[in-house]
Amino acid sequence: MSEQRMASTEMVEEIRTLAAIRDHRLAPYMTDGRPMTLAMALNARRHLLGRPVRHSAGASPQPAAKVAPMSPVPVEPERVTQRTPVPLPEIPAGYYAIPSLTGVNDLAFYRVKVVTEGRWSGRTFVDQIVGGKPDFPVRGERARQVLRAIADAGIEESMREYGRSLGYCGRCNRHLTDAVSRSEGMGPECRRK
Ligand SMILES: [Zn+2]
Repeated sequence: MSEQRMASTEMVEEIRTLAAIRDHRLAPYMTDGRPMTLAMALNARRHLLGRPVRHSAGASPQPAAKVAPMSPVPVEPERVTQRTPVPLPEIPAGYYAIPSLTGVNDLAFYRVKVVTEGRWSGRTFVDQIVGGKPDFPVRGERARQVLRAIADAGIEESMREYGRSLGYCGRCNRHLTDAVSRSEGMGPECRRK
């Protein structure tokens, strides 16, 4: 039995970089550090190279490379080409549960922090919450994916899902100690906000 050739770390990294430059949302299996076959990687790279460069001031549009029709690589459907980057949804600070982007677990848990003062004022940061481990910073395209996924699932609904799943309030992360709060996923004060 011949073993499948796998893509090198460098190639996977290149694909991630290309995806960021081309404003392309990668399929979950490409963003998770899991091994990718060489064939998949080559296909994904060819696909990305054929995408228009994200518009930036002064840059002349790069002619799209001729790309062979896509073979069945599970990249997500292409979005309509945008002249300007798609604005990120505004997600308030809080704790969120969304369907796992990796498909490994059923839910993934995130903390969204919005900085209100200092040099990072106005910036949003995302940490992944993994049981028994320190919160793990999520950055770059991956963080944008998480924010979009929260918006898709619904901001309040994702907060409440966090609370219902873990027993901590999705807004303030305090323990939920009564049955109503646990079923609502949020403590009484935060529900009124
Ligand atoms: Zn609360």
